[in-house]
Amino acid sequence: MKVTDIIAQDIRFPTSKENLGTDAVHVDCDYSATYVTITTDNKNLTGIGLTFTIGKGNDLCCKAVEYFKEFIINKDIIDIEENILEIWQKVTNHSQLRWVGPNKGVTHLAAAAFFNAIWDLISKMHKKPLWQYIVDLNTDALINKLSFNYLDDVITKKEAKKIIDSNKEKLPKDTSELNSTIFPAYTTAVGWLGYSDDKMSKLAKENLDKGWTHFKMKVGQDIERDIHRCKLIRSIIGDDKRLMVDSNQIWSVNETIQYIDRLKEFDIMFYEEPTNPDDVLGFKKIKDAHPDVKLATGEMIQNAVMFKQFIENKSLDYCQIDSCRIASINEILPVLLIASKFDIPVIPHAGGVGLCEYVQHLNLINKFIITKNSLSLSEYAESCSEHFENPAIINNGGYVTPISPGYSVKIKDSSIKEFDYNNGTYWK
Ligand SMILES: [Mg+2]
Repeated sequence: MKVTDIIAQDIRFPTSKENLGTDAVHVDCDYSATYVTITTDNKNLTGIGLTFTIGKGNDLCCKAVEYFKEFIINKDIIDIEENILEIWQKVTNHSQLRWVGPNKGVTHLAAAAFFNAIWDLISKMHKKPLWQYIVDLNTDALINKLSFNYLDDVITKKEAKKIIDSNKEKLPKDTSELNSTIFPAYTTAVGWLGYSDDKMSKLAKENLDKGWTHFKMKVGQDIERDIHRCKLIRSIIGDDKRLMVDSNQIWSVNETIQYIDRLKEFDIMFYEEPTNPDDVLGFKKIKDAHPDVKLATGEMIQNAVMFKQFIENKSLDYCQIDSCRIASINEILPVLLIASKFDIPVIPHAGGVGLCEYVQHLNLINKFIITKNSLSLSEYAESCSEHFENPAIINNGGYVTPISPGYSVKIKDSSIKEFDYNNGTYWK
């Protein structure tokens, strides 16, 4: 079976109309996907992948994907599976394109979409959901598909193998026995920054009734309003539920230190992205000033090397890996392995198109073969789930294990016809 074509579509949903996804710095998000389709000479086998953006710039990611086509077009899928790391190196270390990266920004987001589609294709060829395909892979074969570029000072392939093998000892021989797993989640749906008090109260009550026990809200507008919103949410969810806040990078290091003092009374489980996502040392200064609070970050940590620094330097307490920011499984699993080595819990980021569908697989891979940490928790944000053929399913505050082959992000044909930014009926 061979790859016959690779198509990148610019899909944009007009979510800014309802203030969905709004936070301290992103005030008008149109949730979008750079949507990659890999066709093959078998009409029943297609690889689908995406990266998430919030509107303008999605076209740039689509353009970047075009440059990667040459690495898999007309190639046999079994060869692609065997040589995926070599292809990954060619894409992420392209001798000309790397100048506009490297391993960050538009080209890296595009690489995520491209490899997410390849992993979908491969796991569909094996007729397994992606998480199960990975868990079932022989450990050496898996390690040989992962990039340890610039990571050997913190984790070696030998250590990685040991981590995976010791976790595998606990697994059943037939991994489909794991299908009944429910993976605990928290909801972000109640407290987007653009929501009124009434809307927030209504959503908090509804989500409490649905069985949620962990809630995240946006802060960073102005501190008095943040305190008011924290009070409001706490008054609804009570003291026994967990509350997290996310200020999406808006504060300086010193402001964060000062504002945490004001928010502490609300018993915050973690403060997410308080300041600039590249500021490894700044995060550490915040932690030194507040040794009793926990920091979370990762949705805008651009590559494995940055994660390495955050984790080794103890600048974060919760690792919020993103399925579309760094370049797919080849780069994500090494980060999860570093987190495992340092016993850092991983709580993947999932506020965006297709991210819940992706992280449901990453959570299971991490739980079954990588982490030794006992905390199981993942974000859930329900964004645009109505556009997916098989959206992530939540049952009583946890992800139901996906069992269909692939990596779960097929968007309905009717949604593509309507929301394709170039010729969809909505945008005409
Ligand atoms: Mg966030």
